[in-house]
Amino acid sequence: MIKGSCMCGEVTYAINGEIGDITHCHCTTCRKAHGTAFSSVAAVQMKDFEFTSGEELIKCYRSSPDKVRCFCSNCGSHIYAHREGQSHYILRLGTLDDDPGARPVNHIWVSLKAPWYNLETDCGLPKYDEWPDDR
Ligand SMILES: [Zn+2]
Ligand SMILES: [Zn+2]
Repeated sequence: MIKGSCMCGEVTYAINGEIGDITHCHCTTCRKAHGTAFSSVAAVQMKDFEFTSGEELIKCYRSSPDKVRCFCSNCGSHIYAHREGQSHYILRLGTLDDDPGARPVNHIWVSLKAPWYNLETDCGLPKYDEWPDDR
C-alpha cells in the first residue's frame, strides 16, 4: 500500500496497487495549478485509489472541458486530476508520503515550459540538505 496526504493532513489516501511511470508535466495549467516549474504525476487506477479521510474536503476545478483537477479545499494541495472517460486518476506525486517505487521517465509539454527553468542545467545547480549556508 502507498499512502499520501495533503499539506494540512485532513485529506489522506491509500493506493492498493502500483502506480504508473512518473512524468514531469510542464504545461501551463500544471504550472499555474501547482505554482511550480512543472508537476510530477503518474497514473493510478481508480479501483486502486481510496480516500482514507477528508474526502468531503475535496473540490474539483475543471481546467479543460474534459478534465478536472481535484484538491483539498482547506489547504490547496492538489491530489489528482481526472480526464472524463479514463479509468485512472493522474496522481499529483508531491502529496505522496511513501516511495511509490516508480521513477520518472520523461518530461512532457516542454513546448510550454517556464522560460526561467533550464532542463539541461538546473539539475547541476548547487544542492543543500536544508537552507544554503549563506542564507
Ligand atoms: Zn488539506
Ligand atoms: Zn500538465
